[in-house]
Amino acid sequence: MITELPLYNKILILSIDFIGIWLAFIAYKHIPKKKLSKIFLGNIFLMFVWVNFAYLARLIGRQQIYWALICLKVAWFATPLLFVFLYFLVVYYLNKEKEYRFLNKIILLAGGGTALITGFTGLVINKIKFVNGDLSILYGKGMFPFLGIVFLFMCAPLYLLFKEYVKSSPRAKIKIEYLLVGIFIFYLANIIFNITFPILLDIAHLYWIGDYSAIVLVGFIAYAIIKQNLFGIKVVLTTVLVGLIGILLLIDALAFTEELLFRFIKGGVLIIFLFFGYLLIRSILREIYYREELRKAYEKLKKLDQAKSRFLSIASHQLRTPLTIIKGYISMILEGVYGEVNETVKEKLKRTYQSNERLTTLVRDLLNVSRIEAGKIEMKFEKVNLESLISTLIKELSIQAEKKRLFLKFERPEKKLPEVSVDKEKITQVILNIIDNAIKYTEKGGVTVKIKKPTSKKVQIIISDTGIGMTEEDIASLFEIFSRGSVKTSLTTEGIGLGLYIAKRFIEIQKGKIWAESKGKGKGSTFYIELPIK
Ligand code: ADP
Repeated sequence: MITELPLYNKILILSIDFIGIWLAFIAYKHIPKKKLSKIFLGNIFLMFVWVNFAYLARLIGRQQIYWALICLKVAWFATPLLFVFLYFLVVYYLNKEKEYRFLNKIILLAGGGTALITGFTGLVINKIKFVNGDLSILYGKGMFPFLGIVFLFMCAPLYLLFKEYVKSSPRAKIKIEYLLVGIFIFYLANIIFNITFPILLDIAHLYWIGDYSAIVLVGFIAYAIIKQNLFGIKVVLTTVLVGLIGILLLIDALAFTEELLFRFIKGGVLIIFLFFGYLLIRSILREIYYREELRKAYEKLKKLDQAKSRFLSIASHQLRTPLTIIKGYISMILEGVYGEVNETVKEKLKRTYQSNERLTTLVRDLLNVSRIEAGKIEMKFEKVNLESLISTLIKELSIQAEKKRLFLKFERPEKKLPEVSVDKEKITQVILNIIDNAIKYTEKGGVTVKIKKPTSKKVQIIISDTGIGMTEEDIASLFEIFSRGSVKTSLTTEGIGLGLYIAKRFIEIQKGKIWAESKGKGKGSTFYIELPIK
């Protein structure tokens, strides 16, 4: 008795063949690496053989069981080879053909051997018979070893892809995700419908889902290799899922619902579902688009930022040399190396000298900023006696304080301080800057420097003044780059707002803390520097 194969089988086979040929054509034209394109064509060809001969076996088997067996063996001959080609496709895709020479040989040998044994002996497929019109296979003794080897083939490309995935760039990751999803769907369908169902559960009539899933595999591979700008895999999976559920809802409404009313209701549900599915996909697409825009903007900013740092660094280096030379000449002129200088000229030269010093500090700060931003600050740790360091600084700065008729006090600690291990030059710069600021921003009263009684872990330096004070907002942005307090102070005093920014970075690199407090405008400020005792 001849039973017809279901219509959907014929339609699916025709579509798969058609899509397969189309993909082969596209691949041949668009895959730049010729070897890869050949392997991919091999993949498609083997899928072609596998799917069509398995179908043929069922088609003619109903009349001639001998030919059916031959067809089935041809199909099964192609199966291990398809896995071998899949492995080589991944190897060539990742450009690893040289790296895995040994594995390549083993897989090739094992694949060829398995194909031959399956095709030309009865070890794997022994006999076939038709039960209720479904082809059913009587397996030979070699079935389980065959499964074992095929399983190893299946693992090899996955292993290579996962290994590469971890260290890939985001762009390369998307491509690998496509390959992985294609392989995963194909494997899953095969494990369920070609292995578990027929061999373990004796359900034979769903074999075609496993076979036909090969088209998903080659589809994903082609898309991943050929397409340059891939959508995130999220979009593809969501679209596939929405499409699949849509089709199921449609089939349910058309084929399994008799009553017109229910058909209408289900049709309505389908429309609502499609509408929300569409919104979902659109929102994901938008998210990807914006993320891409953000990434581009970020790259651009990063480049600009690097250019700025480079510029700062080069410019400050170039400025330093002439400044040092100017300083040297002025000193020598003032010392009378080039003859007597009258008082008026001396006075002007001294001012020039001071301006030159200010410019030198500014250039030093700019250089520091560019080093901070490039993450290139070198630290030279050494044991430092904070007490003597501060008293030297106070001596230097007292002239400045006297000029403004301010007091400058140093309250020494009662106990002897332990030495701290810090970068002496940098810590000097920071403390000097804070005391200098305190003098700069104070008109009446003065400045007190204090070292708090140290704990076993840290020592705290407190610099307080009776000056103009700060508002909450001033304090909030105090340590930011180019931050200059309120307009009034910034107009009446010199400075460009780098000192505290650098101070904070310097202190933080040494694992310390720096912060400021003030009771408000006109009520003085207090700066705290805390350093660990190592
Ligand atoms: P600069 O002094 O060059 O402006 P700084 O980074 O050293 O840069 O200081 C940033 C801002 O913090 C100053 O412009 C000032 O507004 C404020 N500031 C710093 N120290 C004091 C202080 N002791 N009293 C009041 N304001 C201060």
